[in-house]
Amino acid sequence: MNKIIVDKEDGKKVLIIGSGVAGLTAAIYAARGGLEPTVISGNQPGGQLMLTSDVENFPGFDEPIKGPVLMERMRRQAERFGTRFVDESITEVDFSSLPLKVRTESSKELFLADSVIIATGASALWLDLESERRLKGRGVSSCATCDGFFFKGKDVAVVGGGDTAIEEALFLSKLTNSVKVIHRRKELNASAVMRQKAFNNEKISFLWNSIVTETWYQQGRRH
Ligand SMILES: Cc1cc2nc3c(=O)[nH]c(=O)nc-3n(C[C@H](O)[C@H](O)[C@H](O)COP(=O)(O)OP(=O)(O)OC[C@H]3O[C@@H](n4cnc5c(N)ncnc54)[C@H](O)[C@@H]3O)c2cc1C
Repeated sequence: MNKIIVDKEDGKKVLIIGSGVAGLTAAIYAARGGLEPTVISGNQPGGQLMLTSDVENFPGFDEPIKGPVLMERMRRQAERFGTRFVDESITEVDFSSLPLKVRTESSKELFLADSVIIATGASALWLDLESERRLKGRGVSSCATCDGFFFKGKDVAVVGGGDTAIEEALFLSKLTNSVKVIHRRKELNASAVMRQKAFNNEKISFLWNSIVTETWYQQGRRH
């Protein structure tokens, strides 16, 4: 028999799926509105900012703040107003009728809610290399708009050949000395417009038919 959670009076059952910046912002607002929300954290409590070191663009912080510290503070802020956290993932939903039904990974708990806010964000496709895991935040990044600033004036590489990779390469070309796009095929699978932009950009060069098997950085340099 499934345990039924979130059994408050009608109109007050708010469930938030995801505990990144979006989920926790929703939780703070809902909690301050007296809705006593429940946040299902998912398999990455705190979301993508848990993977980053310095966050420099969050308004209100004149000094950089570590991603995990920021997320911990956001979680405490949400808890202070009455948010409840469940460290599980959602694997099944039924939104065909009210109350909305949501089931956790373990399938032991069924959550009933009047409103469900989905804030499941995104996750990067990594190369799955041991060295890459070790160097995340120390020269290896999955987000050019977030971390590009740290690579100002440097030579960087982007792995991939689709729209996302080319978008990142174009963005980085404005900040860095040079961008090498490393692609496992002999042509880009990015859209024609993106391809042309990349080919026209004199800072971007290409390494075709190449698969990255190792990442490292020069001793003594952060990036
Ligand atoms: C390396 C890196 C550095 C970054 N640096 C910066 C920066 O300096 N400044 C900046 O503004 N942005 C930065 N970003 C971008 C920022 O992290 C994202 O914009 C932000 O995290 C998006 O927040 P979100 O809440 O939408 O989703 P996410 O942070 O992706 O969170 C998604 C949440 O959903 C949960 N979830 C997913 N599936 C389920 C499920 N089935 N059940 C339950 N929960 C689920 C996950 O566990 C997670 O908690 C960076 C990103 C990366 C990867």
